[in-house]
Amino acid sequence: MTNFAGLELAQPILRAIADEGYTTPTPIQDKAIPPLLAGRDLLGVAQTGTGKTAAFALPILHDLGRDAGKPVRNRPRALILAPTRELAGQINDSFRGYGRHLDLRSTVIFGGVSAHSQIKALARGIHVLVATPGRLLDLMNQGHVRLDAVEIFVLDEADRMLDMGFVRDVKKIVAALPTKRQTLLFSATMPKSVQALAAGLLDDPVRVEVAPAATTAEKVEQSVLFVPKDKKRALLGDLLQDEDIERVLIFTRTKHGANRVAKHLHQCGIEADAIHGNKTQNARQRALKGFRAGRVRALVATDIAARGIDVDGVTHVINFDLPNEPESYVHRIGRTARAGAGGIAISFCDHEERAYLRDIEKTIRQSVPVVDDHAYHRPEIANDPGTVKKDPRAKKRPSRRRRNSRRSGNTGQAPRKAA
Ligand code: AMP
Repeated sequence: MTNFAGLELAQPILRAIADEGYTTPTPIQDKAIPPLLAGRDLLGVAQTGTGKTAAFALPILHDLGRDAGKPVRNRPRALILAPTRELAGQINDSFRGYGRHLDLRSTVIFGGVSAHSQIKALARGIHVLVATPGRLLDLMNQGHVRLDAVEIFVLDEADRMLDMGFVRDVKKIVAALPTKRQTLLFSATMPKSVQALAAGLLDDPVRVEVAPAATTAEKVEQSVLFVPKDKKRALLGDLLQDEDIERVLIFTRTKHGANRVAKHLHQCGIEADAIHGNKTQNARQRALKGFRAGRVRALVATDIAARGIDVDGVTHVINFDLPNEPESYVHRIGRTARAGAGGIAISFCDHEERAYLRDIEKTIRQSVPVVDDHAYHRPEIANDPGTVKKDPRAKKRPSRRRRNSRRSGNTGQAPRKAA
């Protein structure tokens, strides 16, 4: 692995990296920055937490910084598209941080808030624009953004973008870009739909792939508690008596569930807040800010709301509900193992979630150790092999490999202590 100086980035950027306290490039930065500096298109298979934002932000800043020129009204030279407001905001913060010693201007536009100040920022002139697709199209249609000067285009979290139904918007935006440009596409997963999109966008790209699901999962100390649904809240209140759980992200399946859990924690005297799609943008930002600053110890979130949340120092992730998509599990627990740091993930599994846990263990190719000496542990849930769900995914998967579960200690038999 090289150090940053070996990557031939401009001095003001190296200084900003040192200010951030980064000493070594992460694998995606190591692999992506040299071809990007050479002007190549890039297909990055990487998830949040790998350092991918800096992997594209640093070479873009380097490139634009060479002949920064005056920021031009409404006409960015670099465009970054992200699926959610939170992610877009964080990417813009990264550009500002890494570009603090350069004379470049970046701004972010997203929906759900008034466009007024965004329009003003665009009119003052910008080099870098970070945007969510819907608001960008609106402002393009109103003449507040023109994409004909874009030299570098980044499509971040392409898989989420498609999941969230943005494919048509993305295509309209791409149609407004100059054909001569450098293009980067990042995606945590590579389903056919993303491959097709990439094939249409990228010209002879370098492919860079890091940290498959199993690797991310290996860095996180995981455990599961088998607990009845109606005991989950009490169990959570109980666990959070442990002060080592300093900053915890708690995942629930529903928005309603997130509210109920946050309320319960308040009643237990624990500083908690919830973040989900029914909250206003302001309320979400307030919650995130409190969590970042350490005023809020527990942030309760749904998967959608948590997408792209980038908070350092999350000591624990608790899966209050298990997700039915194994990939979501990997995303969730990755929040506590940022840029190589380790973390702790605790999952609650009730009767109905047994099959989800089995799917997760197959995906991460490891079994999740069972905590069987807790007062809330229920051996009958541990014993239940999990009803096979009528899930279309189940058909495509190979039959369950008993080999995996036998290695695990999560054998479907009652744990000894509890028996
Ligand atoms: P990302 O995958 O872009 O969301 O980045 C994940 C986290 O890693 C962010 O909190 C960054 O501040 C941090 N980070 C990025 N690059 C490095 C690095 N080279 N060394 C240490 N931390 C980093």
